[in-house]
Amino acid sequence: MPERRRLRVRGTVQGVGFRPFIYQRAVALGLSGWVGNDSQGVVAEVEGPAAALDALVEAVRSAPPPLARVDAVEVTPAAPTGGSGFAIARTRSGGLTDVPVSADVAPCPACLAELRDPADRRFGYPFINCTDCGPRYTIVRDVPYDRPATTMADFDMCPACRREYDDPGDRRFHAQPNACWDCGPRLRWRAGGVEARDADALKAAVELLVGGGAAAVKAVGGYHLACDAGNEVAVRALRARKRRDAKPFAVMVADLAAAQALVRLTPSAADALCSPQRPVVLAPKTGNPPVASGVAPALAELGVMLPSSPLHVLLVEAAGRPLVMTSGNLGDEPVVHDDADALARLAPMVDGVLWHDRRIAVRADDSVVRSAPGGRVQLLRRARGFVPQPTALPVPAEVPVLAVGAQLKSTVALARGGSAVVSHHLGDLDHWPAFAAFTQAVEHLVALAHVQPAVVAHDLHPDLRSTAWARDRGLPLIGVQHHHAHVASCLAEHGRTAPVLGVAYDGVGLGPDGTLWGGEFLVADLHGYRRVGHLLPVTLPGGDAAVREPWRMAVSWLEATVGPRAAERWGSGVDPRAPAVLGLVRSGRQPVTSSVGRLFDAVAAVLGVRIRVSYEGQAAAELEALARSAGSATGLDIAVTGEVLDPRPLFAALLADRTDPAAAALGFHLALADATAALAARLARRHGLDAVALTGGVFQNVLLTDLVADRLRADGLAVLLHERVPPNDGGISLGQAAVAAARTATG
Ligand code: ZN
Ligand code: ZN
Ligand code: FE
Repeated sequence: MPERRRLRVRGTVQGVGFRPFIYQRAVALGLSGWVGNDSQGVVAEVEGPAAALDALVEAVRSAPPPLARVDAVEVTPAAPTGGSGFAIARTRSGGLTDVPVSADVAPCPACLAELRDPADRRFGYPFINCTDCGPRYTIVRDVPYDRPATTMADFDMCPACRREYDDPGDRRFHAQPNACWDCGPRLRWRAGGVEARDADALKAAVELLVGGGAAAVKAVGGYHLACDAGNEVAVRALRARKRRDAKPFAVMVADLAAAQALVRLTPSAADALCSPQRPVVLAPKTGNPPVASGVAPALAELGVMLPSSPLHVLLVEAAGRPLVMTSGNLGDEPVVHDDADALARLAPMVDGVLWHDRRIAVRADDSVVRSAPGGRVQLLRRARGFVPQPTALPVPAEVPVLAVGAQLKSTVALARGGSAVVSHHLGDLDHWPAFAAFTQAVEHLVALAHVQPAVVAHDLHPDLRSTAWARDRGLPLIGVQHHHAHVASCLAEHGRTAPVLGVAYDGVGLGPDGTLWGGEFLVADLHGYRRVGHLLPVTLPGGDAAVREPWRMAVSWLEATVGPRAAERWGSGVDPRAPAVLGLVRSGRQPVTSSVGRLFDAVAAVLGVRIRVSYEGQAAAELEALARSAGSATGLDIAVTGEVLDPRPLFAALLADRTDPAAAALGFHLALADATAALAARLARRHGLDAVALTGGVFQNVLLTDLVADRLRADGLAVLLHERVPPNDGGISLGQAAVAAARTATG
C-alpha cells in the first residue's frame, strides 16, 4: 500500500545541491513525487512503499549533501495521488523566509580537475563552479536563491551550460553561477594604457607580479592588493601605497605543502586552511620563511591562505611563489568590491588591475582564524566563507530583531525565530566608508531574510555611530551593556540559557556607572547581568590618545603603583609630554577604566615592547608574541583582593627588573591567568555556577585564553570559548540579538 509524505527541510539547503540530491535518492528508491525550493527551504512530496520513504527521510537526515546544514526535517502524511515519475519543481517566490543562502565556497576537487584538464571545455576557465562550490552570498541580491536574483543574471547560459543546469543528474544542476568560456564572465587586465583579456590577462598579471609589480586582483568578496611576497622592495612599496604602517599582510600559497614552508600548522590549523571557507590562518612562522620581512613586521606569526576561487588557483600556480593578498582598501576602510571604485581608487595604488565582469553584490572580506599552541583554532574575523550561516538562538526571537553591534570590528545581526544571521565584518564605523558598508549590510540582510525588524538592539554607549543610527529608526529600542553582550554572544553560541560566570576582557566599553569597563566578571544570563568583580580601575589619560600611545597607560599604572615621582621619571624617559600626562592622571577629571586591554598596553610600554601603536591591539599582539618566544618566565604576581584584580605588585616588580623582557612578558601572562582563574573560580562557586565564559577582544590572545581555560578546567569548571563568532566586538551583534530575543520573549 503506497503512502505519500510531505517533507519540509529547514537549514542551509538552497544552493547546495539539495534538490538533485533528493531527486537522485528518490529515483533510486523507486519513489514518485516532486521536490522544490521555496522561501523557507526545501519542500518535497514523495510517494511509495513505507520502507522506501523511511530510507529517503533517513538519507536526508543523516547523509545530506556536503555543503548543506540541515536544522530540521518535518514529515507530515499526505493523500496518495497514484502518480508516477519524479520531478524537480520550479522555485516559487513569495512568503516569509528564514533561509539565507549558503556562504561562498572554494573550488571543489571535481572542478579543479576540470580546470587543469586540457580536454575539458572549461580548461583554464577562471570562473568554473558547480553545485558543490562557487560564489553564493557575494553574488546574491534576493531570495529565493535563483539565477535572476544573483549578479549572474547578467549572463545568458549557452546551450551546453543550460543542458547541465537543467539535468538533475548533472553536477551543475541548478548551479546558479554556472558558466563557461562561451557564455560566462571574462577576465580583464588593465595596466597603464594596455588592456588584455582572458588567458592574456592572466599572463600579463603574472608577469607583472613576478617582475616585482603590484596589482589589484578581483576576488570573491572584494579586491585584493597583490605582490610577490618574497620581494622586499615590492612589499615595502605596497605598504607605503596602502598607507598601512605595520598591520601584517596575508600571503596566498598554492597548497598545503607551500603553506608548511612558511608556517607551522597543527592538524586543526591545516584543516582550517584547507576548509571550503578558505580563511587566512595565523600560525607561527617557520625558522626562516621565504617571505620579505615587511610582510608581518615584529610578529612571530604569519597569515597564510589557500586560493578561494579558480582565478586565484590559476594566478598563484602560474606565479609559482607566495603572493601577498591583502584587502584592497586604503588604511582601515572596507574592502573595495565595486569595479568602478576599484579602477578609481585602487588603480592609482598599483601597476595593473586584474578584474572581470561578474559583479560582487555584497562585499565579504577574507575571514581570519588563529592557531593556538594547544591545537585549538580561534576565529578572529568572520566574513567570506562563513556569512550568512545562521547561528541558533537559545531563546527564539518572537519579533524580528536587528542588532547593530558596537563600533570597532563592527558587525550587524538579524534575528527572527530560532536563529540569527550575523553579517560580514564591517570595520570601524568611525570611518564613513565603513558606516556606508554598515547600512548596506543591514539592507542586504533584510532583503535576504525578507523580514522587517520590529526591535533594534544597540550598545549602551550613546556616542557610537551604531547607537545613533539605531535611535533614528523610530522602532522600539533595547540597549545592551557592552560586556553583557560579549557574554551573551558566548552563551548564544553554546545554546545556553542558564547563568554563567562571564569574564569579559577587552578594550573599553561604557559601564552603567559611567566608567569605562573592560576587565569584568559578570554573573550573566541572556536576560541580565550583575557585576561581581573587576580589574582595579585607573585613570585613562587622554581618551583615544591613550589607545594610540600605550606609554600613557604605563604612566597611569606606575602613578598608582610607585607614586608620581617614579612615574614621571619613567615617563620622561619615553616621551617629553610625560609631566603633562601625569598631570592628567592626577587631575581627577579624566575617565577611569578597568580595561584589561589597556593593562596589556601599559605592560608592553613598561617592557619597552611598544610605546606607540599604529593599530588597535598592536601592543598586546606583540607582547603575546614576545611571551611565546620566552624560554623561562619571571615570577610575577597580580593580587586578588576581594573581588578586585590588583596588578600593582606586578608593576613594581617590572620597574625594578627589566633585564629579560620576554621572560617578563610570559610572567605577566601567567600572573594574569592565575589571578583571573582564581577569581573566576571563587566567584563561580559563590554564585553556584558551573561554567565560565571567556569573551572580549583580549581573548584573541590564544596564550592567555589557553592558560586561563586550563586552570579553570583543572578546577572542575566548564569553560565556554567562542567558536562561531569572534571573541572581539565582531561578536557583539549576536550577543545583543540574543539578549533582545530573551527580553522580548513572552513565554
Ligand atoms: Zn565544483
Ligand atoms: Zn556556457
Ligand atoms: Fe568589546
